[in-house]
Amino acid sequence: MAFATKEEYKDMAGNFIHDIIDEDLKTGKHTHIITRFPPEPNGYLHIGHAKSLCLNFGTALKYDGTCNLRYDDTNPVKEDIEFVKSIEYDVNWLGFQWDEKLWASDYFDTMYDAAVELIKKDKAFVCELTPDEIREYRGSLTSPGKESPYRNRPVEESLELFEKMRAGDFADGEVCLRAKIDMASPNINMRDPVIYRVVHASHHNTGDKWCIYPMYDFAHPIEDAIEGITHSLCTLEFEDHRPLYDWVLDEVAFWPNPPRQIEFARLNVTTMLMSKRYLKRLVDEGYVSGWDDPRLPTLAGVRRRGYTPEAIRKFCDDIGVSKADSTIDIAQLEQCIREDLQPKVSAVNVVMNPVKVVIENYPEGKIEMCTVENNSKVPELGEREIPFGRELWIDGDDFMEVPARKYFRLYPGNEVRLKGAYFITCNEVVKNEDGSIKELRCTYDPETKSGGNFAGRKVKGTIHFVEASTAVKIDVREYGYLMDENEETGEQEFNEESLVETWGYAEPSVKEVKPGERFQFFRKGYYIADTELTTEDNKVFNSIVDLKSSWK
Ligand code: ATP
Ligand code: MG
Repeated sequence: MAFATKEEYKDMAGNFIHDIIDEDLKTGKHTHIITRFPPEPNGYLHIGHAKSLCLNFGTALKYDGTCNLRYDDTNPVKEDIEFVKSIEYDVNWLGFQWDEKLWASDYFDTMYDAAVELIKKDKAFVCELTPDEIREYRGSLTSPGKESPYRNRPVEESLELFEKMRAGDFADGEVCLRAKIDMASPNINMRDPVIYRVVHASHHNTGDKWCIYPMYDFAHPIEDAIEGITHSLCTLEFEDHRPLYDWVLDEVAFWPNPPRQIEFARLNVTTMLMSKRYLKRLVDEGYVSGWDDPRLPTLAGVRRRGYTPEAIRKFCDDIGVSKADSTIDIAQLEQCIREDLQPKVSAVNVVMNPVKVVIENYPEGKIEMCTVENNSKVPELGEREIPFGRELWIDGDDFMEVPARKYFRLYPGNEVRLKGAYFITCNEVVKNEDGSIKELRCTYDPETKSGGNFAGRKVKGTIHFVEASTAVKIDVREYGYLMDENEETGEQEFNEESLVETWGYAEPSVKEVKPGERFQFFRKGYYIADTELTTEDNKVFNSIVDLKSSWK
């Protein structure tokens, strides 16, 4: 596994967060930078998380700091060990190694102590309003909230009730612990937020030890502080929660040099669905084959699709980190993939919608080998031999019975070069009874063998071919975008044509292909042998990306 290096991240594009870190190092506020990546293990990671991973791990690499993988597992109901495994695999696959692997649930005792501390300071109280009442009392953006009738109960009473909450004396939702801040605050998050609730559920880590669980806004600053995180990087929707983050650390006051929360814009990409909740629905409702379906923006999905970690890291660096929300054109991601693969992969000849070519003046039964380069831009990738014979397949796109304007490929009467072999001319189109093409009768010019000396003979079109007797039939999965705009409603919806299963003929070297190997299908695009479906006898390829970009 090629792990991202310090050298790579020393050159990471600077951003406003690094400006803050530079300042903190200069003033001596910090000498060692500690970041964390804090996923909730309730789904698979996606490209959006990759941005956060590159930022958190990249920043640690850049500053010789450390970065923890911390599971934010404070919600027992939605979490699953399958997700934990996938997260670790994906983080490593993207090229990062955490310094420590930690669980928020390991801090439940400290969180409980912190809550007791708040109650003792009369900064928290046990509230018996129902969840609906709490919502109603909260007020709105334009109207202040109303104080809970339990707000001013004696500290002793709240301490006792909180202990009873912990002991399991209450049902879910019957009581909760709320911070006592300001019901008139213009920031609704500061209107006596709930910080602990009763949930009678087993936790994957702590089992049945707890039946009360801390809320995110209370738990997260404590998790960060316990680990000595210096800069807690999160997405913009938490900006309004920052006053509460700071309030918790101020009031609990267990930590002398508390972490600082800094928000950045989340990543959105056109045609991609970037939310675990929605992705889970696509998986659970069978729209896609699983979390690793090659159409999904999950890291498992794009990996199976053939995207590389290097390309994703480059993409995350290119898009940068800012405070302004935006949506990135998927073409920019595709361009990163293309640029990464272009110098790395070899070509193979594959033809789709194949059309049979018969070279009438070529001896029957004779096969000769032609040498072709693996990658015309990278000679170091060497050459390979492909067979040529009397019967060939060419790509359906490379023949037109009635040529369009400026069509230089094969059509009746025209001569083209077969890449690596000879010039051929199409003399006759033979049809089946139903009118479809049976074969093209052609002749070849023996003087035009590729690499030979036949200066002066020129043709405008070059196409590729697969020799028929040695051709290997392969399955090809062409992927469109996951989401599409409904023309009537303008809404994004699942693209029913996001997967097209088709097939083609490939040169015989494809027989040796192993799952996970990537190729350029010559003149067509980049493809990967599917890691789940490819076998000895049956090769299944996923389209990674086209050769050409539509992105300017
Ligand atoms: P989702 O909304 O998809 O469930 P989440 O934010 O709930 O995502 P977490 O597991 O809490 O998922 O995310 C872990 C980290 O990744 C958080 O710090 C979060 O801010 C960050 N993150 C999640 N989605 C994106 C995104 N689209 N762009 C950048 N960072 C993201
Ligand atoms: Mg979340």
